[in-house]
Amino acid sequence: MTLINGDIYACPACKSPLLESDNDLHCHSCGAVHSIQEQIISLLPPRIEQQNIKENEAAGWEKVFIERGWQINHDNVHNLLDSGDTPYWRIIQRCMPFVDAALGDIRNKHGIDIASGFGWAATRFAKQNARMTAADFNITEFNGLGAARHALDEQTQFDLLQCDAEELPIQNESLDFAFICSALHHFTEPARAVQEVYRTLKPGGMFILICEAIRTGFCDAYRDKKNPDIHEFRNAGINEQSFKQSEYERMFLQAGFHLHTFFPAWDFPNGQPFGAGWIHSDLRNALQDRSKIKQWIIRLLWRTPLLKLSRHIRMYYKATDRIFIAIKPN
Ligand SMILES: [Zn+2]
Repeated sequence: MTLINGDIYACPACKSPLLESDNDLHCHSCGAVHSIQEQIISLLPPRIEQQNIKENEAAGWEKVFIERGWQINHDNVHNLLDSGDTPYWRIIQRCMPFVDAALGDIRNKHGIDIASGFGWAATRFAKQNARMTAADFNITEFNGLGAARHALDEQTQFDLLQCDAEELPIQNESLDFAFICSALHHFTEPARAVQEVYRTLKPGGMFILICEAIRTGFCDAYRDKKNPDIHEFRNAGINEQSFKQSEYERMFLQAGFHLHTFFPAWDFPNGQPFGAGWIHSDLRNALQDRSKIKQWIIRLLWRTPLLKLSRHIRMYYKATDRIFIAIKPN
């Protein structure tokens, strides 16, 4: 088989580029051979940190899917965003026009969908002709790459990569963008995953995250009350955590990213993506022009006490309604 992103993967043992042959990827430097089985390329590191937690997470999803009788409708993965009518999917629907505005034209761009689950986002980006990799530790048919495999067809092609996001088997500065939906807060060492994305992005590359669990004192209780699923998920072994907004911010800034945080409900007046496009094109121009005055104005607006206050108010009832856009400086 021919891989979409075969030229950017790296040996998980020695980090060297890999050579692709019919049914495997092999490493010139250390001789390791990584076979491709049922379309899934497995590039797990020789030693996986906190392996138990990662395996329990995959097993936990399997348990929840079976207990609840959830099934991925493979015929419908391509249209999932149009048909999703739960609160969770409505948040994603609100976020995606913003994601599109931020990414712009992704034709032939190297992208990775980290913790892709059944691959709805990888599918979406691949349909826009991005060179996509769906990456996950979980390879089951339940919320894992085994399910994502069913989204592949002649028109929709992306790679299925089993890996540990805290040790990405990707060469330095080879990705144009990375995307995570609702998964960083499940990682055992999220800060390390953020550093790995930074390492593998090209300068100017974008790392977009939506639907991460945000913790505030008030909000934790609210979130738990509103979402009893969290307890069931935890009992099943799923690593449900939440972090404060400031903790996320620290992870991105310490890795070296420039960070912009958006609120889809706030930034989309009347649910229209107008607000997002407007704010973001300004932001983009400012970043590209490097016009100090524009940047200064945007920063000033961003720090207006009233705006800050309104964000805090929102935070209390829109726990996960947030978009992080982290840009690796040029
Ligand atoms: Zn090697």
